[in-house]
This record gives sequence, structure tokens and C-alpha cells, in this order.
Amino acid sequence: MMQCSDARPRLEAHLDNELDEAERAALDDHIASCADCAPEALALERLRDDIRASASAYRAPAALRSQIRAALRRDASGAPAIARGPGWLAVAASIMIAVALGSGGTWLISGDRQRDAIADEVIDSHLRSLLAEHLTDVASSDKHTVKPWFGGRTELSPPGINLAAEGFPLVGGRLDLIDGKPVPALVYRAGKHIINVFVLPAGHGDHPETVHRQGYTLRHWNEGDLGYWAVSDASPDEFSRFEHAFRAAAS
Ligand SMILES: [Zn+2]
Repeated sequence: MMQCSDARPRLEAHLDNELDEAERAALDDHIASCADCAPEALALERLRDDIRASASAYRAPAALRSQIRAALRRDASGAPAIARGPGWLAVAASIMIAVALGSGGTWLISGDRQRDAIADEVIDSHLRSLLAEHLTDVASSDKHTVKPWFGGRTELSPPGINLAAEGFPLVGGRLDLIDGKPVPALVYRAGKHIINVFVLPAGHGDHPETVHRQGYTLRHWNEGDLGYWAVSDASPDEFSRFEHAFRAAAS
């Protein structure tokens, strides 16, 4: 049985069809049964798709193109696929930076590493909640059940808000680990999509922010002492209606 430590470095090569048959089968088995590697594999696949879409939409500047060519030359030098230097993810990151430079209010890759790391964790947790059949710890549409459930489990007290009337019924609550601390997540349904709202201490930055990553949209805003991180693959329109309704109810 393949271990996570063997699986992780092979995910990228797997996506590029660079593994032999036996390795591929072992890795597929592992992904199918591992709650940690499955979302990782899916996230990588989505990232690859995003990159492909971005790469065709944005023409890289000359300096970046030569970096990419240099990276590709290193790849072609015969180093084994697993142990090679910067693979397409590294190249991808350069392209994403180029995209970020060209886009106004949206940050794809930000200079603020802590915020960036939290965004990553929030999106990872969202993915895990969808894939690991661990959407809720307390399944209830009753805010009077969900809000007290968090009491004693975390120092953060999320507002109990059910937005069923606005079309976003509360599914329940879950305790997640973000930045090494237990934080509440409120789970909502938006049609066929799930919206996770993570509640952290209010962070720096006064303006609401949007992150697009791995096919998901993340919105971050502060309200009083609390910072909200909402993530979903709902349509931009639906997501913005949700945020509007949530913020109106939370304030
Ligand atoms: Zn694993």
C-alpha cells in the first residue's frame, strides 16, 4: 500500500502522465482511499486547468518567457520526473504572478504571505469538507442549535445566521483547523453548490478581497472582531448575493 509520503511527490507527474503503469495504479488506489491526498490531487488538477486557461489568455512578458524556457531546458536534461527541479507548478506560479500583475482588485498571489497562506488553508479545508464526507460536525438548519454547539470548542463565536429566506439555507457547522487553531465553519447551500464561511479573528486590511484559485472563489472581509472567509464554486452572481445577505444579517 502506497504511503502519503510516496504519493505526494508523484501527483504532479501523474497529472502529466509520466508514471509507469504499476506506479499509476498504486497511486490511483491511494488517492481513492486517502482523505488527504484526494483533495490534493483534485486541487492540483484544477490548478492545472486554471493555468491552461490563464496561460492562453495572457501572454507572458519576455523575461518570464526566458525563465520558462530555462526551466524547460532543465527538465529536458534527463533528470527523473519525480526529482526534477521546478516543474510546471513553478512555471505556473510565474504565470499566475503575471496574471496578478495585470488584474486590478483581485489578488491571485499576494505579497502578504500570511494572508496568502490562510487563503490556501481555507480553500484546502473547503475541498476537504466536500471530499472527505465531513461537511458538518453538527448538521442542523437551526441557528439555535449550530451557534451553541461551537461554545467551548472554539474561542470564536460565529453569528448564527440562517439565510433560507434569501435562498441560502444553513446546512450546519463544522470545526476546522486553520493557522493551527480550531475555527468555526458555517456551511450553506447555494443551489447545487456549498458555501463554507470560516470565522477567524479579524485580520489586517480594511477592504474586502477576492481570491480566485483552483476553480474556487474566496471572499474575505472583516466585521467587528471577526474576519470572514467565504469560499465556494457558486457563480459570481450567486456568491455576491450570498455575501450581501450574510453581511446584512451579521451586522
Ligand atoms: Zn495520502
